[in-house]
Amino acid sequence: MNLHGALEFLNDYPEMSFGPMKSRELNLRGTFRFRANYEGGPIIEDRYELEILIPEGFPIELPKVKELKGKIPRDNNYHINPDDTLCVGSPLRVILKLQESATLNTYAEECLVPYLYAVSYKLKNGGDFIFGELEHGKKGIFNDYCDILGLTNPNQVAKALSLLCMKKRIANKKICPCECGKRLGSCNFHIKLNTLRLVAPRSFYKKHLLDLI
Ligand SMILES: [Zn+2]
Ligand SMILES: [Zn+2]
Repeated sequence: MNLHGALEFLNDYPEMSFGPMKSRELNLRGTFRFRANYEGGPIIEDRYELEILIPEGFPIELPKVKELKGKIPRDNNYHINPDDTLCVGSPLRVILKLQESATLNTYAEECLVPYLYAVSYKLKNGGDFIFGELEHGKKGIFNDYCDILGLTNPNQVAKALSLLCMKKRIANKKICPCECGKRLGSCNFHIKLNTLRLVAPRSFYKKHLLDLI
């Protein structure tokens, strides 16, 4: 069984341990303690009781993290999903962060700690989410994808996402989402989409992105 770096993770976060395995998901739970500072912000030390489920298909299937003690208010201002999992970033943003090294420690350092830092900061100081130009939900995700794809509006993003769900050969014959009026294959935008095809397979885009459209 692939542990996705769970042993190294438990070494770095020793108050977490293996929980009961559910179906084919690894289960890690316990106290997640961190110390971090970002963007010239204050150093924050804090801890959360977490359950982290890591699907067998990680990183194409993303981890699901729940906060167990109700420390994080359950509302959109704190980026909690309807299924009570933490919204640590849009699926595409998360998988881009895991591109170089798809391990649990990378997930913790690049996704989980920045999210929890922002939560702790907001709990203490109020105000907006510190990395939080992004609104929670579809609108925020679309804005994030505009940024990742270098596009300007949600309509273009929806078209680009649907092309990522198609085979390259077929997508290249379609009208380019950047609104250049050419076919995708004749516009440099196809290079951008091809780099994203290397990050994740079509199944990922179908699973995580098609329901946005
Ligand atoms: Zn969110
Ligand atoms: Zn174009």
